[in-house]
Amino acid sequence: MLNKPDELLNEARASIDRSATEADIEAVRIGFLGKKGRLTAILRSMGDLNPDERKELGLRANRVRDEIEALIGEKKRAITAALRAERFSSEKLDVTEPGKGVSLGSRHPITRTIDEICRIFANMGYSVTEGPEAETVFNNFDALNAAPNHPSRDLTDTFYITEDILLRTQTSPVQVRTLRSTQPPIKVISPGRCFRADTPDATHSPMFHQVEGLLVDEGVTMADLKGALDAFAKRMFGNDVTTKFRPHFFPFTEPSAEMDMSCFVCRGKGCRVCKGSGWIEILGCGMVHPNVLRVGGADAERYTGFAFGIGVERIAMLKHGIEDIRLFYENDIRFIGQFA
Ligand SMILES: [Zn+2]
Repeated sequence: MLNKPDELLNEARASIDRSATEADIEAVRIGFLGKKGRLTAILRSMGDLNPDERKELGLRANRVRDEIEALIGEKKRAITAALRAERFSSEKLDVTEPGKGVSLGSRHPITRTIDEICRIFANMGYSVTEGPEAETVFNNFDALNAAPNHPSRDLTDTFYITEDILLRTQTSPVQVRTLRSTQPPIKVISPGRCFRADTPDATHSPMFHQVEGLLVDEGVTMADLKGALDAFAKRMFGNDVTTKFRPHFFPFTEPSAEMDMSCFVCRGKGCRVCKGSGWIEILGCGMVHPNVLRVGGADAERYTGFAFGIGVERIAMLKHGIEDIRLFYENDIRFIGQFA
């Protein structure tokens, strides 16, 4: 009986040696030292012994308990260390390994072109303003002096949302908004999306972009208009381009003109880009019609001004030699990635 604790110690040592996981070692602890464990069972069976033997057995049992606890603690630390070592080796980080390439996006060619146009005019002192894409019929047509029967008002040309609201067909309504909210002098450009019920082809898209310009002040003349737009053409396409103005008609300007610039590809000799003429049409412009100034609340006796509208897609197509407008909206990464 007195040897039983030592026999138990040998058994416990063997079980602890065999333990490989934290669960194994916990099972050993419960089996030997728990409330219903084997060491407790030995102490409970002491009733038959005399007091000296009981004392001796108690001492031995306590010593064995201490030893088993120490062995269990040691084994637990060993298991934890082994686990940690295994994790470290499996999660090893090779800092010398070459990095994975990060693919950076880039701005869309239309966005880049708008930014470039805006930067050129900002350098000439224009500030940038914006208007809504869903616009009133009044701002898009009436306030811009469009005759009640003007063909562009037609349902087949314009996307109407209600009888009074449409998707703007041009950025020109921003002129009206600016005139109504600001007193001259005014010097703004306004980039944005426009919508027309066009069937898509190589040069037409039902959604496209314009940059509108408006300058109103005392004593503004057609010479100021020509100077500003000639400077724009040179900064956009090169200092050697020249410009000329052809009479045209827009309801909201009088006189109205279209500006052509000398072909920057063939320098006027005639090529595919300029269709052999040596000239490329790049924008529409004119002196703001007095009716537009009046509707906008400006004193048409005191102030004059000019306005222009630049087709962003057209500028981008010319600048980058793109022959189909639809390429801008297909979002083929091979196409738009070329402009990064
Ligand atoms: Zn040419």
